[in-house]
Amino acid sequence: MSAKLAISRPKEGAAGKTGTWRTFKPVVDRELCNKCGNCERFCPDGTISKEFEIDLEFCKGCGICADVCPKKAIKMVREE
Ligand code: SF4
Ligand code: SF4
Repeated sequence: MSAKLAISRPKEGAAGKTGTWRTFKPVVDRELCNKCGNCERFCPDGTISKEFEIDLEFCKGCGICADVCPKKAIKMVREE
């Protein structure tokens, strides 16, 4: 059975669109990423695609993806 759930698709989360109030945003370093899929599985808002693209319109900047990344490929960067 596949571990991928339909709920992991990018969608509007409980926090709604977050682009205007988020303080930190995740940035993926593609050189470090080994495509393990942890970030996509653990993002509570399902904003990370199967190709590990992050939909910043709905990401709330919680940093869980950065915490669960075994390669430290995701850095939380302060919004400008
Ligand atoms: S910071 Fe949080 S909401 Fe944004 S992509 Fe990472 S886990 Fe998902
Ligand atoms: S958790 Fe880190 S290494 Fe794994 S797919 Fe996401 S960015 Fe890549």
